[in-house]
Amino acid sequence: MKKLFFMLSTLFLLVGCSNGEKAGTEDSFEYTVDKFADIQILRYKVPGFEDLSLQQKELIYYLSEAALEGRDILFDQHNKYNLTIRRTLEGIYENYSGDKNSDDFKHLEIYLKRIWMANGIHHHYSEDKILPGFSKEYFSEAINSVDPAKLPIKDGTSVDGLIETLTPVMFDPTIMPKRINQAAGVDLVETSAVNFYEGVSQKEVEAFYDKMKDPNDNTPISYGLNSKVVKENGVVTEQVYKLGGMYSPAIERIVKWLEKAANVAENDKQKQVILSLIDFYKTGSLKKYDEYSVLWVKDLDSRVDFVNGFTETYTDPLGMKGTWEAIVNFKDMEATKRTELISENAQWFEDNSPVDKQFKKDEVKGVSAKVIDVAMIGGDCYPGTPLGINLPNADWIRRDHGSKSVTIANIADAYNKASLGNGFAEEFMWSEVEIERAKKYGALTSNLHTDLHECLGHGSGKLLPGVDSDALRAYGSPLEETRADLFGLYYLGDPKLVELGLLPDNEAYKAQYYSYLMNGAMTQLTRIQSGKDIEQAHMRNRQSIATWVLEHAKESNAAELKQRDGKTYVVINDYEKIRELFGELLAEIQRIKSTGDFEAAKNYIETYGVKVNQSIHNEVLKRYEALNLSPYSGFVNPVYTLVTNDSGEVTDVTISYDEGYIEQHLRYSKQYSTLPNNN
Ligand code: ZN
Repeated sequence: MKKLFFMLSTLFLLVGCSNGEKAGTEDSFEYTVDKFADIQILRYKVPGFEDLSLQQKELIYYLSEAALEGRDILFDQHNKYNLTIRRTLEGIYENYSGDKNSDDFKHLEIYLKRIWMANGIHHHYSEDKILPGFSKEYFSEAINSVDPAKLPIKDGTSVDGLIETLTPVMFDPTIMPKRINQAAGVDLVETSAVNFYEGVSQKEVEAFYDKMKDPNDNTPISYGLNSKVVKENGVVTEQVYKLGGMYSPAIERIVKWLEKAANVAENDKQKQVILSLIDFYKTGSLKKYDEYSVLWVKDLDSRVDFVNGFTETYTDPLGMKGTWEAIVNFKDMEATKRTELISENAQWFEDNSPVDKQFKKDEVKGVSAKVIDVAMIGGDCYPGTPLGINLPNADWIRRDHGSKSVTIANIADAYNKASLGNGFAEEFMWSEVEIERAKKYGALTSNLHTDLHECLGHGSGKLLPGVDSDALRAYGSPLEETRADLFGLYYLGDPKLVELGLLPDNEAYKAQYYSYLMNGAMTQLTRIQSGKDIEQAHMRNRQSIATWVLEHAKESNAAELKQRDGKTYVVINDYEKIRELFGELLAEIQRIKSTGDFEAAKNYIETYGVKVNQSIHNEVLKRYEALNLSPYSGFVNPVYTLVTNDSGEVTDVTISYDEGYIEQHLRYSKQYSTLPNNN
């Protein structure tokens, strides 16, 4: 639940329908910005920004500034030395008087880029400390070559003192080795490098919060969300993140921008949301935070929306402290129109499906999925970015007031477009025909398949009277995904979609048919270790459909696995026949579900979804590894500029996409950096 970090399944599905375009460009827009270590840096477009009203653009501008002002907070939360290390390296990077083409300097640049990506010295995903590719001696020499005024040196400390403090933290692998330690049997607070606790043990922290909690409270606050726990004069206490408290200089700036945003809110409801967030920042009261969260979850009509604050608790070994994050976004009208159109026609789809009449719903309601585009990301959403948002986190607010769940279209689109030039399609697709089709229709049909799956697939069909909804037990989940995927696949090939204007022609669906079978039968196996079975429900679903269809296509030769130069490929010879097979399987899967036929469910999943073809698996792993793709991605933000007239009134907000990764971080470190050093 909570924030959906870009799930590998989604990413690989996207990569699976990647296209053959060169170097990730489209209309000369450069999606790929940089590549280093295990990271690629991408750029996202903000479609529709120009068409917003001036007031909405201004609102986005102020919320975006507020989204960038918390960057230092996250660095400091991750580790108390992060800000000082970052500033020292930036000081060297910009002012080094030695050879900037040397290997050592290049390693220093890579190390700094990795620190920006991770918002600190620990890897953003593995949590392990990142070790520099240069020596302690070089570090010391480089620092000494720089004017001390360009280094983060406090009164009473010296360049030597800075070197002495930072060297063990940066170079000694045994000091603060993990950002968050989750190993059993040790003190998680003392062995984690995060800066949420200092001078206290795990036991002391637990006792501190246990004393506060009331087990009968039905609407508890999120204890400890916005504070650091320390010992003062031997007493355990909290330093609260608020105006006048911890992180005050950054929070002051955030509040200033939020106040400007409140003045240009789209409506009163939204204004109240922003004002209540300001109230929380001013007081640090977690009751106020809940008030804000409730108002936020109820604001459904505004086009512009945002997240700004101490939100996710994954990085705290005790799961209480919220890392600071921000997203500014607005509703994607085109994508939302698409899901509304599908959902309006839900009854037609239900009535015309190949499923036996007795298993169909007499009255079916489609759901309309909400799709947004992000305009700015900050804190823990930057540079690594989620593909969706599902907030708030407080269980009682979700229970009593619901939650907002959205998918982020432009981030998914950037992943998709960036994968066009990475060689994946060329490696795994049979011929230019499939590559070209994927290039032309891949993104569109993949999105549409997801929409059909979500808006119609899960909601279609019914159980016969008396059938237990848990009858399929462990096979229920993969079978349900199979059903929803098949519903989408079957209708992608239906002329109705062209008639509704959802697809441009009767050729487009073939792109998704090919990608789906290739992914299910082969390329999704890149996520499984050699020798292992498939466990995950979505992956079982995809393999089961692909292998069932390939097996049943043999007789008519509609599709096959073919060898060329020692490599295996999916080849589809008759797309209409494949659609018939999707329909046939959909009817059978719906029958299994509607009648609660456990044996048939088990037989189907175990036969087609679990076991992996070892030789294909090893072949795919080898071919994938040779492509040398970056496992992790980060993003750069666009730059917004206020345009004013002679009397100082805002007349427009412009957007530009030309800032590079290094430039952006160096600028952010100057423009949005207010917190003190910690050396
Ligand atoms: Zn699903």
